[in-house]
Amino acid sequence: MAVRLKATCSECLTTHWSEMELGQEQIKCPACGHSLQSLPEGEFNEIELTIKKQRTNNIIALIAFGVAVIGFFCWVFKPELKYWSFPHAPQEDFWMTTGFPALTIVGLLVCLVFSVLGARHRFIIEF
Ligand SMILES: [Zn+2]
Repeated sequence: MAVRLKATCSECLTTHWSEMELGQEQIKCPACGHSLQSLPEGEFNEIELTIKKQRTNNIIALIAFGVAVIGFFCWVFKPELKYWSFPHAPQEDFWMTTGFPALTIVGLLVCLVFSVLGARHRFIIEF
């Protein structure tokens, strides 16, 4: 899998996005042509794994944010709860006083935690 990383050239100090793949021999600056040997395989695999984990954490954060938004709008706009016919469903008061606010708060907290986990590491290669 190709990894997209920011790379800074030590010759002309240009920062650009670089698509890097395993087995790629050199990193080359598009502005001045300066090049250097690419990352070793172990380091590349570690970066790739970290980026995959961050992507998963960001997806979870996005889903949690969606759940929070749905909970908030249900709380504010008070939908017809009679269509939500779960067996032994709690009363409408339960959803308005506890259920939807709790869903909103829990969704936002989960979103906060996973978005922090998803943005903890940034990689910039200087060559
Ligand atoms: Zn350069």
